[in-house]
Amino acid sequence: MTCFPVPGFQYTNGQLHAEGVALADIAASVGTPTYVYTTAGLTAAWQAYEDAFAGQDVTICYALKANSNLAVIRTLAKLGAGGDVVSVGEMRRALAAGTPADKIVFSGVGKTRDELVAALQAGIHQINVESLPELDALSAVAVELGLTAPVAIRINPDVDAETHGKINTGRKEDKFGIDFAHAGEAYARAMALPGIDPVGIAVHIGSQLLKTTPFRKAFDKLAGLVRDLKAHGVPLSRIDLGGGLGVPYKHEDSAPDYHAYAKAIAETVGDLGCHVTLEPGRSLVAAAGLLLTRTIFVKDGLHRRFLIVDAAMNDLIRPAMYEAWHTIVPVAQPAADAVLADADIVGPVCETGDTFARLRPMPPVAPGELLAFLTAGAYGAAMSSTYNSRPLVAEVLVTGDRFDVVRRRPSFEDSLAFEAMPDWLSP
Ligand SMILES: *Cc1c(COP(=O)(O)O)cnc(C)c1O
Repeated sequence: MTCFPVPGFQYTNGQLHAEGVALADIAASVGTPTYVYTTAGLTAAWQAYEDAFAGQDVTICYALKANSNLAVIRTLAKLGAGGDVVSVGEMRRALAAGTPADKIVFSGVGKTRDELVAALQAGIHQINVESLPELDALSAVAVELGLTAPVAIRINPDVDAETHGKINTGRKEDKFGIDFAHAGEAYARAMALPGIDPVGIAVHIGSQLLKTTPFRKAFDKLAGLVRDLKAHGVPLSRIDLGGGLGVPYKHEDSAPDYHAYAKAIAETVGDLGCHVTLEPGRSLVAAAGLLLTRTIFVKDGLHRRFLIVDAAMNDLIRPAMYEAWHTIVPVAQPAADAVLADADIVGPVCETGDTFARLRPMPPVAPGELLAFLTAGAYGAAMSSTYNSRPLVAEVLVTGDRFDVVRRRPSFEDSLAFEAMPDWLSP
């Protein structure tokens, strides 16, 4: 059994390592469950974009929602990434991590007035507006503050991203963006409203796309619209193509073709005279992270072998939420001739949905043994919760042979600190 090839993680002397650090050492010092990210993995993912877009002038704004740990954001910002944020909390994180304000794009269907105020005051690069009411609200706020909002209008291109239903965002029945047919009206309104500078147009069709055909379809439609809008006097100078490039989660999946993606962009929107922004999230962080967990019990049921681990759906919700698949490997390298037998890998939370894998061929695993869930750097820790009163999962970043805790595990006292007993219940 070999480790699924993700840059930054490999077996050395029979032990799975994150770069030069043995995962067993991290578990001994930080405990489990813990997310472990490698700088090498983040850098490799960034480099894949740099290589594919060499010669094309694009700005890459990392979509923070995939992993909003400050150290991860800063690692990417130091490589040159801007930020795509979907809440004022993410905007503040991006700024706190050192992302320049003029490289921050604010997306999302439901920005509150306070969020619009904060975005304008921070002087970010662009606000991606998703509805006419939002356009009106933003105009009012901008006028009040005496500022001008650089706006891109997000268009729903009605293209099926051919991905999981919960992460398909560019069909006409999805909640995102302004209908293609209403684009003209939206820009007319944007041009008439005070405090609004309609500089751009945006799309984002979905997540975990392994093929580039849906992208090409959407970008092609968008290019036609841009030509049309420009012909009607809309001064568009920026195109934001969103994120969505997928990652292989299984051995047999192949990675999307970055060069085909870059080529699709060059061939569809390359000659419009607009600056291109991309908003990748998952593809920059997924492979750079794993979730380290310890086996609590091995239960041999009548019909199943259960590996009960100390990570649960509150730490990694993707399998429960999207039927997602993670490669799961032992930290101690199994013998080459280890016999594989099916096992269900489950967490301790009281939900049947707290199941990471069913009938997964696994080598023998002993209670107490460490396992690693690979390709867990995206939508893992960022979606974690404290369900079942489990503390938020810890996070570690590795570089070379060093590691540091980049989010500590809260203590029980920390967890209680936000709660208070009302007077009438106090003793
Ligand atoms: C989620 C999201 C992204 C990032 O998507 P990935 O699939 O993680 O690359 C980019 N832009 C917008 C508007 C998003 O909502």
